[in-house]
Amino acid sequence: MQFRDITGQDEVKRRLVRSVSEGRVSHAQLLAGPTGRGTLALAVAYAQYINCPHRTADDSCGECPSCRQIGDLAHPDLHFVFPVNTARGKSGSERPTSDSFLAQWRGAMGRTGGYLDEPAWYAALEMENKQGLISKNEADEVIRKLSFKAFESEYKVVIVWLPERMRPEAANGLLKILEEPWDKTLFLLVSEAPDKLLPTIISRVQGVVVPPIADEALAAHLVAACGAGPDEARTVARLSGGDRIAAVRMLGRDERDPAFGPFVELMRLSYNDRHMELLDWAERMAALGREEQKQLLTNSIRLLRASYMLHAGLERIAFLYDEELEFCRKFSPYIGNHNVEPLLAEMELAIRQLGQNGNPKIVFAHFALTVSKMIVRR
Ligand SMILES: [Zn+2]
Repeated sequence: MQFRDITGQDEVKRRLVRSVSEGRVSHAQLLAGPTGRGTLALAVAYAQYINCPHRTADDSCGECPSCRQIGDLAHPDLHFVFPVNTARGKSGSERPTSDSFLAQWRGAMGRTGGYLDEPAWYAALEMENKQGLISKNEADEVIRKLSFKAFESEYKVVIVWLPERMRPEAANGLLKILEEPWDKTLFLLVSEAPDKLLPTIISRVQGVVVPPIADEALAAHLVAACGAGPDEARTVARLSGGDRIAAVRMLGRDERDPAFGPFVELMRLSYNDRHMELLDWAERMAALGREEQKQLLTNSIRLLRASYMLHAGLERIAFLYDEELEFCRKFSPYIGNHNVEPLLAEMELAIRQLGQNGNPKIVFAHFALTVSKMIVRR
C-alpha cells in the first residue's frame, strides 16, 4: 500500500514522511480517528515507506520485494494484532489470536484497501453477535515475534488495530512491551477510541490525530471509484463527515474494484473466442500504469483461485463479495483441475515479465491469447 492509494490526508502523509527523512521516527505512535478516514491504510503505507530502500521524497516505490510483501500483508517483519473471536457455532474456549485469521484479514484488507470498519471485519469472521477482543496471548505472541532478529528490513513493525479492544491483561502486556526499548521496532496503534486506552499507554505513544478527509479529495474518490456524479459526490462527501466508509455506504454503490472489470471482460472474451477483441483488451491493459497492471494480474489470480474453490464446493472459504461472487459462481464450471494450474502459471509469468520490464503490449497480447485457449466452452 502506497501513500498515493490513500484518499486525501496530505498533511498527515507529509508529517509521516518527514519523520523518516529527519530520522526521528518515534518508536510508538497512535493514529487516532475512525478507520474510514484512512488511519489503518496510513499505518500500512507508513510501514511500507519506512522499509522501502527506494523510497522517494513522498512515497514508497511500490515495486521492490519489501513493498510487494508489505502490499500483500505478507512481510516477515510486519505483524498485525486486531480483535478476533470464534465464528458462530464454535466454542470460545480456546483463545484465538490474530494469526489464526490472517487469511481473512488479507482478504478483507485487499477488498477494502484498508478502509475496513469493525462491523465489516466481524462479518468477514462470521462472528455474528460476538464481540471481538484482543487477548493476553496476543501480547505474548508479539514479544515472541519481536525476539527474532529482523529478517531483512530496517524496521520491524507491529500494527495494532483497535487497541481499545484489548482485555486489561493484554493492555498491561502491551504496556510492558512499550516500556522496553526495542531496537528498530515500530509500534503503530490505530484507534477509533483513544479515550478508552490506559492513560499509561497514551503517555508512551506519540499521537497522530487523523482528521476527516477533505471534501474535495473524498468527492474525487467517489466519482472515480463508485461512478458517482460530481454533485452527488460533493454532497455525500460533506454529509459523511470525511469518512470514506460512511460515504460509500451512503452512496449505496460499491466501490468498483478497478481490477475486477478487466478480469470479467478477459474471461468473457476468452470463453467466446473473440480474438480481435482480446487483442484490443491487451492494448488497453498495456496502456495502464505498472501498478495497475500488477494489481489486475494479482487480483485475477485471487479470483481464479476463488472460482476454483467454488467449483470444488468450498464457497465458505472463497471470500468474495457480492458482484465477485455472482460472476465467479457463473464462471466456476469452466475452471477445473485441467486448467487451473496452467492459468495461474500464465498469470504469474505475466507478472514476472512485467517486473523484468517486458514490453507490456507483447506481454498482454500473449497472455490474453494463451488464456483464451485454456478457457473452453463445453
Ligand atoms: Zn519499495
